[in-house]
Amino acid sequence: MKLYNTMDRKVEEFVPIEEGKVGMYCCGPTVYNYAHIGNLRTFIFEDILHRTLEEAGYRVKHVMNITDVGHLTGDGDDGEDKLGKRSRETGKSVWDIAAFYTDAFFRDEQALNIKRPNVVCKATDHISDMIELIKRLEENGHTYTAGGNVYFSIDTIDDYGKLAGQKQEDKLSGARIVVDGNKRNPQDFVLWFTNSKFGEQAMMWDSPWGRGYPGWHIECSAMSMKYLGETFDIHCGGIDAIPVHHTNEIAQSEAATGHKWVNYWCHGEFLLNDKGKMSKSSGEFLTLPVLVSHGYEALDYRYFCLGGHYRTQLKFSYEALDHAKIARERLNGVVAELKTKSKPAASLGEKAQAYKDSFFAALYNDLRCPEALAVMWKMIKDGSISDAEKLSLLYSMDKVLGLDLDKIEAKKEEKVGGEEEWKLVEERRQAKAEKNYQRADEIRKELETRGYIVKDTPQGPILQKIM
Ligand code: AMP
Ligand code: ZN
Repeated sequence: MKLYNTMDRKVEEFVPIEEGKVGMYCCGPTVYNYAHIGNLRTFIFEDILHRTLEEAGYRVKHVMNITDVGHLTGDGDDGEDKLGKRSRETGKSVWDIAAFYTDAFFRDEQALNIKRPNVVCKATDHISDMIELIKRLEENGHTYTAGGNVYFSIDTIDDYGKLAGQKQEDKLSGARIVVDGNKRNPQDFVLWFTNSKFGEQAMMWDSPWGRGYPGWHIECSAMSMKYLGETFDIHCGGIDAIPVHHTNEIAQSEAATGHKWVNYWCHGEFLLNDKGKMSKSSGEFLTLPVLVSHGYEALDYRYFCLGGHYRTQLKFSYEALDHAKIARERLNGVVAELKTKSKPAASLGEKAQAYKDSFFAALYNDLRCPEALAVMWKMIKDGSISDAEKLSLLYSMDKVLGLDLDKIEAKKEEKVGGEEEWKLVEERRQAKAEKNYQRADEIRKELETRGYIVKDTPQGPILQKIM
């Protein structure tokens, strides 16, 4: 299997640390609002990765956090806690807000057939792990305290910014105006805030540095290492996480352990709307329930996302979603039709197997979903593949596509004729069995005056409506 590694800026052969196993960490949602369909695109990409790895034979341990504290409105440690802000605006407690939007998020995930990660961990349940990690950084001389907050000093490491491929000098010259005068270097970031910055707020914990709460980045380092070990295989997220969040995660994790943290960095590109990147803070965003209220099914949106490679930007429009919906209806229709005619084949012929191989080859080549879908449609149209093989292939493909194809019902044969006509058909069958051809003929005529032709087939008599 091959994956694009953001760290090396190229597609690489995936080699796991432990044979047959994959440890994968994905940054989860910040639960101060509904997830928008852009966020969901990223989680669908991660689900496709998870499912593809499983199909490739790996046992996947997928860990995802829930950010319920510490994510500020500004990436540069400026602004206020997103959940705190929401609490102030709505008068609800931060805990109620977190619980409400976490539930909403998992409802969306379920509707989209996103497999639940093996471990879902909340930041607020792991404060002591974060404190321990900050202590390690402090012991290794990577921190300083200023204005009551604990900062990570990026000048104590020599490869800060390697994920984004930015040189230190470029970053410095392009750095934004320093909002936080306590920082020695504008790129230093907060590991632990104390009330010195934001005053009393709902979510605060005791720490060696005073009562306060963690910076945003430390949660992902602490929780991923807790559940996956100090070095693990894959870390995912949206590309917006590269320059600050993931860059800082790497800096603090590798400074704490003294060795490489993550082997493969996989990032999903943005979903755009007509104004650009869809974002929660701009307020211009669509949610899954909004799409459903417009008559779409959640899986129409999943199909729409499968139509774009995860590393290319995808522009959302209702017109594009309509195309996905129509394609999905066609696909479901194909499955229903196949199901009425056949059972899935127990084994595949050479040509059917070749389709399966090229479908998975596309996925194993950096998750090329659009290519895999094209193979699927080509196979559907190929007359030399039997119905049984087609059904079997579609079920195998759906293990990754996740479109619920196995739940599609067989096409219901529309029954021609009413109860009385079928009584006559039965009477005619008996008359024929008794060699009473005159009566059988009478019944045939009676059915004709009622508008039906009776035909004998190897499966028994059928009725056809006279047009
Ligand atoms: P958040 O809930 O803001 O922490 O974001 C959850 C995930 O969605 C992160 O991995 C983000 O990088 C990602 N994300 C945010 N905006 C978009 C977008 N417009 N398109 C795709 N992914 C996004
Ligand atoms: Zn993270």
